[in-house]
Amino acid sequence: MDTEAFRGWIGEAACLIAGNVDRLNELDAAIGDADHGANMRRGFDAALASLAETDPDTPGAVLATAGRALIRETGGTAGPLYGTLFRQAAVALGEASRIGGEELGAALDTALTGVRRLGGAAEGDKTMVDALAPAVVAYDTIIEAGGDLVAATRCAAEAAGLGLRATIPMRARKGRAGYLGDGTIGHQDPGAASVVLILQALATAAADHSR
Ligand code: ADP
Ligand code: MG
Repeated sequence: MDTEAFRGWIGEAACLIAGNVDRLNELDAAIGDADHGANMRRGFDAALASLAETDPDTPGAVLATAGRALIRETGGTAGPLYGTLFRQAAVALGEASRIGGEELGAALDTALTGVRRLGGAAEGDKTMVDALAPAVVAYDTIIEAGGDLVAATRCAAEAAGLGLRATIPMRARKGRAGYLGDGTIGHQDPGAASVVLILQALATAAADHSR
């Protein structure tokens, strides 16, 4: 994936978030304060504006630019977590101008580590980690088996979707939802739902730019 492909990822993610604002807000209404969709749209709109303004010229610079905008504008608990996700991925990508399957895997791994370190959430706590962690495992499995980046990103998005479904019976232990305790059982986690969208966007961008 080159710089254009990474711009394509952020563009597609902004598009999917915009199309799911109400759904993400509704998921957050059930276990939080109904703002996750609005937060994410604000953050991704800012990321797009920042990319248009600064025109970064490497994949790492694209993700660093997006990450800074997400931290600045998203708000909520998710803002710093998503900002960290993209900024840590950017650090792992470094100055390279083309990113292959292994490099992207290392970036996803570093991103997950950053989110875990900042938020302190483990799998089972009903957070975005419950979609992200299985996605990273699925991605690595495909690459290790000799699969390509396009297949690995598609598999990661599917694993994230299963991770999202698995959050339904969980009891939230982190963030705002943590205060609701048993009241969170029976609902999908909104942050896990936005992770699915962002990884679907990655799979789309990877497929679009591999032709
Ligand atoms: P807020 O909770 O401040 O309103 P959002 O609604 O935008 O922020 O984001 C809520 C989402 O953030 C949750 O659904 C969850 O996935 C994620 N989240 C909250 N706390 C943590 C944490 N400590 N680690 C990882 N993700 C978290
Ligand atoms: Mg919220």
